[in-house]
Amino acid sequence: MTLYSHSGVIMAQATCALCKSTNELQTSHIVPAFAVKYIKKTSLTEKFTSLENPNMTYQDGAKRKLLCGHCEQLMSEDEGWFAKNIFWPYVNSEARSFAYDYHLTRYCSAQSLRVLLYLESKHAFLDSPDLNPSQRMKLAEAVDEFRQITLLRARKPSRYQHHILFLDTASDMGAKVPWLPKFLNHYMLRALDSDCGVDSKRVLVYSKLASIALFTFIYPRAPKKMTGTRIHGHGTIGTPQHVGDNGLAEFICSRAEVVSLIKDHESPKRQAKLARRFSNTKRPRMGSEYERAAQADEVLRLLQQSGPEE
Ligand SMILES: [Zn+2]
Repeated sequence: MTLYSHSGVIMAQATCALCKSTNELQTSHIVPAFAVKYIKKTSLTEKFTSLENPNMTYQDGAKRKLLCGHCEQLMSEDEGWFAKNIFWPYVNSEARSFAYDYHLTRYCSAQSLRVLLYLESKHAFLDSPDLNPSQRMKLAEAVDEFRQITLLRARKPSRYQHHILFLDTASDMGAKVPWLPKFLNHYMLRALDSDCGVDSKRVLVYSKLASIALFTFIYPRAPKKMTGTRIHGHGTIGTPQHVGDNGLAEFICSRAEVVSLIKDHESPKRQAKLARRFSNTKRPRMGSEYERAAQADEVLRLLQQSGPEE
């Protein structure tokens, strides 16, 4: 449907993925704009590479016309809370422990919903033949619940567990785990990523906002061997945390492998340009986070070369 505004500008109307109204849709970030802003501010080139299309560089994160203005506004309240109270203090190393209330559970539901709605609008994910009927049903039920929580501004926790993992460098693991991807630290600290992970044992929704990873477990609903990561109705979350689930570690490493593939295929011209920027002493102070990831990956490489510990 096409409407004309008073100024004569054509306004395309479509169905909002959240409230289902027919409306003019906003262009929505899939990974929130504050995380995109942080990566741009701390990058060498103010551009970044997408895991979906590694041969291109972008000035902005993945966006899609998904929600109406009203629904974007609904989501932005809790996004703003998360950015102010957890994201910025953590990435700026100002705090390692964070008190939270219903804003955080609601934000986690909304972020995972955003990922699922994005995948659905991009390639009808919820009808994908890659999903079996049971997985399809479980995901549809989760979408329904997250939609209700977001639209009704619910303050009670979701039936699904949300877990937040605060990431840091992993270079000291290099000698003990020789198969770690060589740009793992870059991925851990710098990557923006989101997806729905599905295999025969589990279904989860994943959002990675620089050094903070958010997992929503659709099936099974209660993951094992995770300490200090679960979000309840209210409480405090922070480091240290422990994840003893090898499947989850392998999932993160498999995403980091993609970064290694991208970096291996960067053209000599781009590598030279990055090296010039890297040696520029006038670069912004916040660029040091890029430097930290690069140094940790170098330590990882050296440890891996030196072989496993006796
Ligand atoms: Zn809407």
